[in-house]
Amino acid sequence: MGARIVVIGSVNTDLVVRGPRIPTPGETVTGGTFMRAQGGKGSNQAMAAARAGADVTFVARVGDDELGEAAIAGLRDESIEVGFVARDPDHPTGVALIMVDRSGENAISVAPGANANLSVGDVEAARPAIESADVLLMQLETPLPAVGRAAEIARAASTRVILNPAPARPLGDSLLALVDVLTPNEGESALLTNEADPRAAAARLRESGVDTVVVTLGPRGALVLSGDGESSVAGFPVKAIDTTAAGDAFNGFLAVSLAEGLDRNAAVRRACAAGALATTVPGATPSLPFRSPVDDLVKPPGSGHSSGKPSS
Ligand code: ADP
Repeated sequence: MGARIVVIGSVNTDLVVRGPRIPTPGETVTGGTFMRAQGGKGSNQAMAAARAGADVTFVARVGDDELGEAAIAGLRDESIEVGFVARDPDHPTGVALIMVDRSGENAISVAPGANANLSVGDVEAARPAIESADVLLMQLETPLPAVGRAAEIARAASTRVILNPAPARPLGDSLLALVDVLTPNEGESALLTNEADPRAAAARLRESGVDTVVVTLGPRGALVLSGDGESSVAGFPVKAIDTTAAGDAFNGFLAVSLAEGLDRNAAVRRACAAGALATTVPGATPSLPFRSPVDDLVKPPGSGHSSGKPSS
């Protein structure tokens, strides 16, 4: 059996139109092309963890509609356990309407729908899965009471809690004290603490009760601050073409690596490799890497596998 990961979070359907330009209010611009994709940080991180080789249970809410049906099928295709993905009778599946212009600039409007209704009851229903998991992984695209309850259940059962505080919003010390690993990016760490410097921000977050803070720094890798002190994990040089879901790949692989017993810095290094590879492929779910190219990138040259270059 692989590492057991429970992911609690959002699932959206991305409806993307690539057109000549983004319309101004009241304007209609025609001539675009349409694409539909699965998204939401929860769904992306669950898929990243599954592609890393873990047994993943996803706790979420979709609408009782066609998009919800498709989202569940998409998760099942990745061998993710979907028994705790509730069908909301009153709210539609979350949707992100994304417009992209010729230069790649975008405008996004999100209707969270059923995601905004993920409840403490949904979390309670998944209690046995959380209690028997190695790691619980969450983000902030779903309501805080559910996140808080899940963290309490996990802490009482010694399940490690990783919280990716994205999108950033104020968090109470009572929740932060239940978090084993907090993984803000640089902007989120500043928003959470009012400290522009990631080192100072990480120190603040530890004072609030978090055990280990990992600030992701884009191409520069990540900064790790724990009771053992501070360390830097270098980024992997890649030809980045689209950074969408880099953080989601990072978090999924970090959860699995810690669940498999890698030490903290080795786990963060593997997560950085996953984040780097995610930037080499456009889109969200298509860019989430599988385990073997990530392991190839992490292995030092001459160890019998790749030369350290990302495999395509
Ligand atoms: P987010 O996607 O949440 O904004 P980051 O931009 O910090 O978070 O990216 C998460 C991780 O992905 C980084 O810690 C890094 O390891 C990897 N990463 C992101 N962008 C790049 C890049 N341009 N080159 C190499 N690695 C990257």
